[in-house]
Amino acid sequence: EAAARRVDDLVRLVPDFPEPGVLFRDITPLLADADAFAQVCEALAVQAGGPIDLVAGMEARGFLLAAPIAVHLGAGLIPVRKAGKLPGPSVAESYSLEYGDATIELHPSTVPAGARVLIVDDVLATGGTAAATIRLLEHCGAEVVGLSFLVELEALGGRALLGDHAVHALVAVP
Ligand code: IMP
Repeated sequence: EAAARRVDDLVRLVPDFPEPGVLFRDITPLLADADAFAQVCEALAVQAGGPIDLVAGMEARGFLLAAPIAVHLGAGLIPVRKAGKLPGPSVAESYSLEYGDATIELHPSTVPAGARVLIVDDVLATGGTAAATIRLLEHCGAEVVGLSFLVELEALGGRALLGDHAVHALVAVP
């Protein structure tokens, strides 16, 4: 598909970033290409299937995709932030990283019970971030109707942490 080709062509592989042994997928060339950016946002939005009230994007690259997709779908935006960044009453979820823990938060007052939410991020790796985001939204009583990614790193098995939610990736890397 055309959008998948744009991801293949424009997401740059950076060896040993941010640390030795990691092959980092850098989406900045894709974001900078007006045509490709619009095409992938449209493709991610289409995968939603059914009406969407809110699009949740994870700090920081998820914001860059979730915001235009929300506008495209006529939905609101939920920024899922790293701990300590949100000013109002927040709910938090922690998850394990290779070394240590991470915590993400959102403002529950912006997520009505029953809201239909699409989660968007650039890369699905181990799935910890996405799984914690599902827990946060479900804690608020929202319905997670799907998760959309540019790239899924299949070898890391992240999909297994996401239950039976609909997971879509434009490109799956074995
Ligand atoms: P996970 O929680 O292990 O699935 O990691 C996913 C989070 O890490 C996402 O928010 C991604 O933005 C980020 N991430 C992991 N690997 C990459 C990468 O290669 N490029 C860009 N972001 C990445």
